Amino acid sequence: MSAGILTPPTTGDYIEQVMNTVKAKNPAEPEFHQAVQEVFESLRLVLQRHSEYRDARILQRMVEPERVIMFRVPWFDDQGQIQVNRGFRIEMNSAIGPYKGGLRFHPSVNLGILKFLAFEQVLKNSLTTLPMGGGKGGSDFDPKGKSDNEVMRFCQSFMTELFRHIGPDTDVPAGDIGVGGREIGFLFGQYKRLKNEFTGVLTGKGLNWGGSLIRPEATGYGCVYFASEMLKSRKDSLEGKLCLVSGSGNVSQYTVEKLLDLGAKPVTLSDSNGVIFDPDGIDRDKLAWVMDLKNVRRGRIRDYADKFKKAIFMPTDLKLEHNPLWNIKADCAFPSATQNEITAKDAANLIKNGIKVVSEGANMPSTLEATRLFLEAGVLYGPAKAANAGGVATSGLEMSQNSARLSWTRDEVDDRLHKIMISIHKACFETAAAYGTPGNLVNGANIAGFVKVANSMLDQGLV
Ligand code: NAP
Repeated sequence: MSAGILTPPTTGDYIEQVMNTVKAKNPAEPEFHQAVQEVFESLRLVLQRHSEYRDARILQRMVEPERVIMFRVPWFDDQGQIQVNRGFRIEMNSAIGPYKGGLRFHPSVNLGILKFLAFEQVLKNSLTTLPMGGGKGGSDFDPKGKSDNEVMRFCQSFMTELFRHIGPDTDVPAGDIGVGGREIGFLFGQYKRLKNEFTGVLTGKGLNWGGSLIRPEATGYGCVYFASEMLKSRKDSLEGKLCLVSGSGNVSQYTVEKLLDLGAKPVTLSDSNGVIFDPDGIDRDKLAWVMDLKNVRRGRIRDYADKFKKAIFMPTDLKLEHNPLWNIKADCAFPSATQNEITAKDAANLIKNGIKVVSEGANMPSTLEATRLFLEAGVLYGPAKAANAGGVATSGLEMSQNSARLSWTRDEVDDRLHKIMISIHKACFETAAAYGTPGNLVNGANIAGFVKVANSMLDQGLV
């Protein structure tokens, strides 16, 4: 403890001091502040019992990335014009394993958004039970409306800088918004060419070149498994439940698929232009049509309502404080698009309509106020870092298969994923109870994730 401080500040004061420093040192990064604030609220309970974390300044150390890489990504578009984007990789924390976390390509990407994602990733990866540190990266490049050749040229330029910072034992990126199988393929090809090495440096790879079965499905499947565990804790199940799913990308598609497997009825999907509501339910044939629309034809979700006449399309106005999707009466909600897509008003609408379960596929989809409302209303609320950890957990399984140079069957990977989601739920549930807040899985996830990383940091000294 530093000399001159006679009376140590209370836990509350200490957390407030660190939070104020985070805001002062990282201005204009509201999403990062929000993610840290949510975790710090839970950590009050831990710091009251464990002064060693405070003495070792673990909070101050965890909010400071180990390394931030920011770089220029120049590329030629199809008209031969030069385009310039900004690339990032946040290497946040390597206390329990190599940095691991996705790459996001979206025009909204900036330093603060990637730092919030990297910070969340550290605790999420800890929860998976696998040895992975946390990182995140990406670019403000927008793959929407670009040709395959433009996407390839961009990915090659992006990797031409990134390759020197990553490696199978150092930092292993994966996909996220705007980065799917196509982009991972182009990135992997360029890495291999530059390093002259075929290694598991990325996850989400194609099946013919080191990918794992179930990796594309894993985040959505895992999020549904987590919802099922939450319902089990109240002796209930997903059978026959009406479900709202937002987004229409990777996570949303496989959430819908697993909901159908478990006898639930998904009725919505969305994209940044609007929402479709299909009162008949999105069945397997309709889902196959959506997958073709989104993954092959790269079209907009509004087309669903032209194709399936009972469905209606509702445009969304991003300036409004609420989204019509969250005002549809249902039992379960699976936000699977992006951060802060559920505002306080949306949460109030969901609660008013009797929502039982919210299981977060997207990262930080609920605002702090929305989260508070769900917890106060006794909704079964699965926070992102627990509910969507199935994706990175299966990336961890892909890394294991790459190291051992073998491939597990679909059933084997799915079974491991299912068991991991059960154990994440158990850890969150039991930790919440152990810290005097039974049923509060936000506290459970934040504390269980934090303790393992913090103890590892203590073991490894001041690095
Ligand atoms: P994706 O395949 O690119 O799909 C993203 C979906 O969300 C699209 O429908 C997109 O609509 C919509 N969306 C994105 N930004 C939006 C915005 N600002 N406003 C409204 N809609 C928006 O991405 P994904 O992999 O499914 O990721 C979705 C969420 O899950 C993200 O929060 C991601 O961090 C999280 N997540 C993903 C994984 C994974 O394994 N992929 C793992 C854990 C968490 P448009 O097409 O109109 O943009």
